[in-house]
Amino acid sequence: MDYVYIVPVGSIRDDFWVEPLEHAVMRTFGLKTRYRRFDLDLARAYDARRGQYDSAEILRQLIAALPPDGCRVLGVADVDLFIPILTFVFGEAQLNGAGSVASLHRLHNEYYGLPRDKHLMLERLLKEALHELGHTFGLIHCHDPRCVLRSSTYVEDIDQKSAEFCEACREKVRAGVAACRRQARSAAGKTNRGNAVRSYDVPPIV
Ligand SMILES: [Zn+2]
Ligand SMILES: [Zn+2]
Repeated sequence: MDYVYIVPVGSIRDDFWVEPLEHAVMRTFGLKTRYRRFDLDLARAYDARRGQYDSAEILRQLIAALPPDGCRVLGVADVDLFIPILTFVFGEAQLNGAGSVASLHRLHNEYYGLPRDKHLMLERLLKEALHELGHTFGLIHCHDPRCVLRSSTYVEDIDQKSAEFCEACREKVRAGVAACRRQARSAAGKTNRGNAVRSYDVPPIV
């Protein structure tokens, strides 16, 4: 099967985002979703010097725990993520691989000293989730200012783009999803999962 697993990472209290996120993933990629908690060891990703969590390590654990009926996994974290060369990341994904992760941490208005806005946070999460999943289907950053695959350095950048792929990216998404379905059909169980782990050799992109 070709489920997209949506996995909470850390101690997320709110779950109002789960259903809208599942809908957005289904609508955008035409893939079914499963919301599950995985047995993750978040402490292993913690960098005490930076006070942040290594997103590559979280990705590794998510991919390793992905059940055979899953073609993709999207972790939704509440902790601050980083990769060594950057101060922080909103998320990270494998290009053409199984794994992606996005964090709510810097999507909250409160993080910037602004009043709480659940709707805005949800909108930001949907955009970041579709963006990261887009990478897993082989898409790289897009220069179209409205396209969800445009890279975001600041939260304002997320607010400026839409939650949709531009036409060119939508074409590539369709091709990527079709390839994913073919792979899921031809590979049985563990083989499929093995492919996903091997594709980790592709450098992750944020
Ligand atoms: Zn685009
Ligand atoms: Zn990106």
